[in-house]
Amino acid sequence: MIENKKILIIGMGRSGIGVAKLLSKHNNEIVINDSNEQEKEVLDELEKLGIKVVITDKDYELIDDSFDYVVKNPGIRKDKEIFNIARKLNIPVINEVEVAYKFLPEDVKIIAITGSNGKTTTTTIVYELLKYKYNNIHLGGNIGVPVSDLVNEVKKGDTLVLEISDHQLLDMYDFKSNISVLTNLSEVHIDFHGTYDNYKNTKKKIFNNHTKNDIAILNKSDNDVIKLTEDIPDKKLYFSSKEDADICLKDNYIVYNNEKIISLDDIKIKGNHNYENIMVAILIAKMYDITNENIKDFLSKFGGVEHRIEYVTEINKRKFYNDSKATNNKSTIIALDSFKEPTILLMGGLDRNIPFDEISSHLTNVKTIVCYGETKEKIKEFANKNKVDVIVVDNLIDATKKAYEISEEGDVILLSPACASWDQYKDFEIRGNEFKETVYSLK
Ligand code: ADP
Repeated sequence: MIENKKILIIGMGRSGIGVAKLLSKHNNEIVINDSNEQEKEVLDELEKLGIKVVITDKDYELIDDSFDYVVKNPGIRKDKEIFNIARKLNIPVINEVEVAYKFLPEDVKIIAITGSNGKTTTTTIVYELLKYKYNNIHLGGNIGVPVSDLVNEVKKGDTLVLEISDHQLLDMYDFKSNISVLTNLSEVHIDFHGTYDNYKNTKKKIFNNHTKNDIAILNKSDNDVIKLTEDIPDKKLYFSSKEDADICLKDNYIVYNNEKIISLDDIKIKGNHNYENIMVAILIAKMYDITNENIKDFLSKFGGVEHRIEYVTEINKRKFYNDSKATNNKSTIIALDSFKEPTILLMGGLDRNIPFDEISSHLTNVKTIVCYGETKEKIKEFANKNKVDVIVVDNLIDATKKAYEISEEGDVILLSPACASWDQYKDFEIRGNEFKETVYSLK
């Protein structure tokens, strides 16, 4: 619990607003800042609660030694001047999840899911499976519902299923889960963390404060995961789509402790990466005594999470897929490997100075790349190097129209950008929605 303190919140977003409201209820004096103008309704609501809102990009002018905490939005870089000043003044910099955690009742069970890829899908499946049997399960974290917004409704004995990003883990100290999942590790967000080692060590904080009574669910076939978790005290459970493990694939089935749980043919979402996400969820479902019938029922219906190789529609025998969430090479590779059809690939976005060469050996079915955004010239070079036809346009709307124009019956038109959206969009959801709207406009 944090009460009667003076707190500076940097970054408004959903989590900043959520945590401001939570803290203000407990008699804390709050100043909240963002560099962008905010909607009047939001400002009015916060001001009514006695929260001081300051819109400025000179956030470093707001801090002095009268503050007890700085709460940092996970997306903001930690090397900004304001945080250096806070550290010099010995003011703890924490984040929204860490704050919300301090307000949760005792005896709450926390399932925390992180990893480079698969977080949202895994978190969603875990939540949906547990709901079959219990009505005290809550979903939150990086998945779009700040933990601060859950605090009021969570009661003793409830379970929280939380997606936790590396950005969130960075400023967590007391937060502790009971079950932690590390799905996999790959070199992403290096621009944010500086080095891959920094990134991995940040991910390791998902096991912070664990003892031998806590559970770690780990990818047995991911060497970086295995190495990183060598010295954690947890009881370890392993999944793998490649080798024998506590839960693994055998004879076209997901098999848990030698029990066949479900045939892969009965699972609607496809691909080994998705089977891995499902295996994690089954391990947890089994701890909560969810029946195989319930597991089968859900997996036969679940078509995946929006913006993740999401089937959009078919127009004149061309199938459109929205994989806007693919913000790195690995995700685009997974999408490309999921199709056997001739594919027109829409790629582009924020330039993080990461080469695309990793994707080269997965272009077998790609007949044309249509590229746009900040990275378009780099993608053009990449396509030329790989002898794939390429068309350069300015934006995603033009790319979508162009792709349809040059497509033939039987083609897949796939948005799997391999880049973050931030050069042209606020987030990948808006990018994916714009793609879908453009597709529907072609009908
Ligand atoms: P995250 O929340 O970690 O970004 P998502 O569940 O949103 O992950 O999936 C994003 C993309 O990552 C998917 O479209 C797919 O390309 C890829 N992906 C999903 N699950 C896995 C996995 N277990 N291993 C590797 N890649 C995955």
